[in-house]
Amino acid sequence: MELGRPASSRRKLKDLLLKKDNRNCADCNAPDPKWASANIGVFICLKCCGVHRSLGTHISKVLSVTLDDWSEDEIDAMMEVGGNASANSIYEAYIPEGVTKPGPDAGHEQRSNFIRSKYEFQEFLKPSLRIISGKSSLESSSTKSAKDSFRSTSGTERQEGMVEFIGLLKVKVIKGTNLAIRDIKSSDPYVILSLGQQTVQTSVVSSNLNPVWNEEYMLSVPEHYGQMKLKVFDHDTFSSDDIMGEADIDLQSLITSAMAFGDAGMFGDMQIGKWLKSDDNALLEDSTVNIIDGKVKQMMSLKLQNVESGELDLELEWIPLDQ
Ligand SMILES: [Zn+2]
Repeated sequence: MELGRPASSRRKLKDLLLKKDNRNCADCNAPDPKWASANIGVFICLKCCGVHRSLGTHISKVLSVTLDDWSEDEIDAMMEVGGNASANSIYEAYIPEGVTKPGPDAGHEQRSNFIRSKYEFQEFLKPSLRIISGKSSLESSSTKSAKDSFRSTSGTERQEGMVEFIGLLKVKVIKGTNLAIRDIKSSDPYVILSLGQQTVQTSVVSSNLNPVWNEEYMLSVPEHYGQMKLKVFDHDTFSSDDIMGEADIDLQSLITSAMAFGDAGMFGDMQIGKWLKSDDNALLEDSTVNIIDGKVKQMMSLKLQNVESGELDLELEWIPLDQ
């Protein structure tokens, strides 16, 4: 997915990733890392990324090189560190005897112990740089700008840092059918989707009760994901927007079946799960989860709730974190 950062910054990040020392994970040497810690300034593999995530964003803010939207500051911080070799020359300056750097196939415990010692406790720095008070002594140097920008966001940083994402959800808002009339003869509908703390909004389609959007949005899925909420509104220029119905979307059938199958690319097209229509949900008919061309997708038609009429078609796609 291409997001709104300027091409020149994207280019810089890509060039940095292609440098020889960044072709292997900074922590375990696994080839072709696709993740990065934006505040530490290293490129890492999926397994090490999992450990970094567990440390919280106040220690390591992990981003996908290909999927996430990077701010200018984050890219600048990566550039300033200069990649894995120069980061490791600081963070692994003095690895004591008896400590072995994990390899690509290391177990979780060895990997996790090493990464925590390396970044959280900073045990392998040059003696003159080691932590005295528990505050990072590197803060005055290259990592400052990125770290400061996380701090300024809010006092709840610590809790936010603990949110673990288990995957990404691509939502395609396809179309609405027979939506309710909110102006004199028609409505100007748009859709809002929310999951956890994230909200996305489609464009407004003017004077149309059967709007076609075909717009795609990407949401991160937290570990405790709950339901995705969908609301349709009528855009009003002169007063507040009127609601035109809503629906709760159960993600469990998609996510549990996707996780059970793991790498969907290994399987041919097949049905792997189903969200059943019931009196308690908004489904117009059972919604199946399918592997299609190596991707896990779920189509659904929803009857909008708390409104006189209206249906909405969506397509969901599960994207695991290792892409
Ligand atoms: Zn690694």
